[in-house]
Amino acid sequence: MLRFQRFASTYSQRQVLRRYPVGATIHGYEVQRVMPVPEFKLSAVHLVHSQTGSEHLHIDREDSNNVFSIGFKTNPPDCTGVPHILEHTTLCGSYKYPVRDPFFKMLNRSLANFMNAMTGPDYTFYPFSTTNKADFENLMSVYLDATLNPLLKPEDFYQEGWRLEHSQVEDPESDIVFKGVVYNEMKGQVSNANYYFWIKFQDSIYPSLNNSGGDPKKITDLQYHELVDFHQRNYHPSNSKTFTYGNIPLDSTLKRLNEQFIGYGKRKSSKRPLLPIELGKDVEANFHGQVDPMLPPDRQLKTSMTWICGSPRDTYETFLLKVLGSLLMDGHSSVVYQRLIESGIGLDFSVNSGVESNTSVNFLTIGVQGASDVSKFRRTVDEIFTDVLKKPFDRQKVEAILQQLELGKKDHKSNFGLQLLYSLLPGWTNEVDPFEGLQFDETLQRLREDYETKGDRLFYDLINKYVIDKPCFKYSMQGSEDFSKNLEEEEKKRLQAKLSHLDENDKEVIYRRGLLLQEKQNLKEDLTCLPSLKISDISRNGDSFPVDKLSPVITSRITDTNGITYIRAKRKLNDSIPAELYPYLTLFADSLTSLGTSTEDYSEIEDAMKLHTGGISTHIDVTTDPVTLRPHLYFKFDGWSLNSKTDHIFDIWKKLLVDTDFRKHSDKLKILVRSLASSNTSAVAESGHSFARGYAGAHYSATKAIGESLNGIEQLQLITRLSNTLDDEQAFQTNLVDKLIELKEHVIRSENLEFFVTTDSHPSAEQVQTQISKFVETLPRGATHGGLEAAQYPLLPMRAGISNTLIDFPFQVHYAASVLPGASYTHVDGAHLQVLASLLTFKHLHREVREKGGAYGGGATYSALDGLFSFYSYRDPHPLQSLETFSKSASYVLNNARWTKADLDEAKMTIFQQVDAPISRKSEGITNFYSNVTDAMRQARREQLLDTSLSDVQNVTEKYLLNKHPANAVVGPIIDGKTTEAGWQVEQL
Ligand SMILES: [Zn+2]
Repeated sequence: MLRFQRFASTYSQRQVLRRYPVGATIHGYEVQRVMPVPEFKLSAVHLVHSQTGSEHLHIDREDSNNVFSIGFKTNPPDCTGVPHILEHTTLCGSYKYPVRDPFFKMLNRSLANFMNAMTGPDYTFYPFSTTNKADFENLMSVYLDATLNPLLKPEDFYQEGWRLEHSQVEDPESDIVFKGVVYNEMKGQVSNANYYFWIKFQDSIYPSLNNSGGDPKKITDLQYHELVDFHQRNYHPSNSKTFTYGNIPLDSTLKRLNEQFIGYGKRKSSKRPLLPIELGKDVEANFHGQVDPMLPPDRQLKTSMTWICGSPRDTYETFLLKVLGSLLMDGHSSVVYQRLIESGIGLDFSVNSGVESNTSVNFLTIGVQGASDVSKFRRTVDEIFTDVLKKPFDRQKVEAILQQLELGKKDHKSNFGLQLLYSLLPGWTNEVDPFEGLQFDETLQRLREDYETKGDRLFYDLINKYVIDKPCFKYSMQGSEDFSKNLEEEEKKRLQAKLSHLDENDKEVIYRRGLLLQEKQNLKEDLTCLPSLKISDISRNGDSFPVDKLSPVITSRITDTNGITYIRAKRKLNDSIPAELYPYLTLFADSLTSLGTSTEDYSEIEDAMKLHTGGISTHIDVTTDPVTLRPHLYFKFDGWSLNSKTDHIFDIWKKLLVDTDFRKHSDKLKILVRSLASSNTSAVAESGHSFARGYAGAHYSATKAIGESLNGIEQLQLITRLSNTLDDEQAFQTNLVDKLIELKEHVIRSENLEFFVTTDSHPSAEQVQTQISKFVETLPRGATHGGLEAAQYPLLPMRAGISNTLIDFPFQVHYAASVLPGASYTHVDGAHLQVLASLLTFKHLHREVREKGGAYGGGATYSALDGLFSFYSYRDPHPLQSLETFSKSASYVLNNARWTKADLDEAKMTIFQQVDAPISRKSEGITNFYSNVTDAMRQARREQLLDTSLSDVQNVTEKYLLNKHPANAVVGPIIDGKTTEAGWQVEQL
């Protein structure tokens, strides 16, 4: 709905309007509509390809970080995950680019800062972003051919989907097991309790969506011909939507698309929108899921209530619903948080909570995890809604939400085009008009006007329309000790059923097929068909962003911030923290933004924060010195607001840092600890490889050892221990409250503070400078010394030169890491090691760990600043085999790799994708402040990377990897007879 006439406000927007007259035809595309969106300095152009009916949305904007995406509506026919397996197999080679995994190969022939493919509930899309025009054209060509002309060979299906194969491919006597990349990926997902809760929720309320990712139980039903069929039916231009964003002229894109679509006719769309279950009356669904090892037995319940609230096609009502969702549930002062979380009914919101509008209907869901009593939860939710209708919403809160939206609009983001794609695409595939989603100012203005005239009625009407006395979907999942065991048994049975049908002949086929697949995986391919940028496309000089020194401790960066000021502060803590208090630093920083002062509850402070600022945060960080490799331990805090409102940032900083009252709000502290405990497990499930890598690194680096206690395995153990003893008031006071009060003495001091200010004018910067001086005076004086010097922080012990640790965790899959020490950021060896890591990942480990080993991911990384060389695997069915592969890597490099100059250049290309990825304005020039890396160091390193030769790579392999003793860590369940043997230690969480 267009309520206001839109006028082009800038010269470039008027040009866009003129360039795309409505009704004109450009390369087979008819211009349907053009709309300027001055608030985002962009113009949107909507076109339709006449021959096929394919729609194109172009967002014309002066931004060099261009985006392309092709997407298809893919209603899943069943739960075999066919859309997801197709997403993977389209990337296994196409007619024009007949090489295995051209996407992956393009990663090191391109300077794209983002390349991916994603399966949504009823759509699949393939986006990338790059600042280089030649690159844009190369990648568009690969993407179009991959999606429209994939080879879809049977072996791609076996590799990416599922297959039966001997556990040891070459040994026909070894067991036959299920393998396949998507199969293992989804097994990994199922063991993530949050994912399982969410997918079972969706399966139950929205069965027609059929789990597009794939249910492992059903994946093994999928047949190869069904995959080919699914591609035929869905990956057709008539069923596609393409999207471009940025400053590359649309003309060349349309020309290319038209060439690609030329052989296709127009298909009638047979895609019904998929709908959820009919909610004629309340419906209830109950399941069992993974037990959370870090929560007590009486807190293993997740439960939610959901109402269906209209359709996203009504964009204004959907927007109102989201505002209502924020009013009800966002932050400590929201009524739902107070009555469900603060009251202890649940430990935290469940993952399906909030307003969801990514499908054909809107859901409003209120749910909690770590609950004990379902009926109490449901009664309370009902009461909340009846009470809400009796009590007016706080005007300030409505205003705060609008302020947040306005500020979010002004805040410059380096990946704005991608964000726009993500926000528009789900609706667009379900017939929501993307132009409506772009009319930000109108929507906001309309809300303001409606709120003026109707007041709270605006929200009450929604609640009455969709919630009060309306049918509700009641959903619960109870943690069960048997869950993993049952999954394993189900898999065993399913495998047996398949095996029982096999005769000797079939078994021979399976054996030969395994060997054949392995042979193909080992084949050295000719990649010359793939387009590529050249190493000379990388400039020898990197970006630098001049900064000003306003005073010895205040640095500023003046840039186009759209009227926003960002302020960051840090205080070095290297010699002030007593050894026994290190592990409590994270909780200390977290409690500052959770507890409140002696006169104010945190919810009041939070309200002011939302009303006047874009956000304020406090954290503890430990970084490594780029020259000496010694750790720097910092307390950091930051905030941002409109230039005119920076005084609020300092007011709130003062309240949080100086006035937080740990004793008075110790009940809030308990809530915080419980909520952290309730999210620990999913943190490990999502990034088990980071935990494994951090733990292994802590054997070699003081920074990583401190990191272990701040946010690694040791921190998880601490939170579990604390959350289990919260009922003992005396112990709680001494074990936690007293410690945080003591920490405050050491951390919050006026000495050694440094600031970095990003704003858009010198007067603004000077105003902040004055505010900083006043603020510093309000802090206590006299720095404390005599704590444990950070550099002396004890490393995790190595036993007899070998360390293998299994961190016992009830997943279906593992995460493995192997870590060795390297060189400092400024040492030339560091650059060589980084190139080596890239070469190993792309030219060796991807094949060994992912393609052959069946892990979802794996490779080597070099942490430049920490000076650590790490191998890792992600959702790995064979972690010990991966560790073996890692340990043989050095001899592979020296004896078998035979890498060429082209391989080397590709490795560098991959590194520079990240080095040269566009950054947001607020991040300009801040590297030195955050990591002590100067522009000169960055430039030197850039040259070292570009100048790295193959013999440099060999030399560092010999010097740092060959015959060295890595620290190994595996996160996941105990592997019988292996990880309990000598040479292994087991850590429990
Ligand atoms: Zn996947």
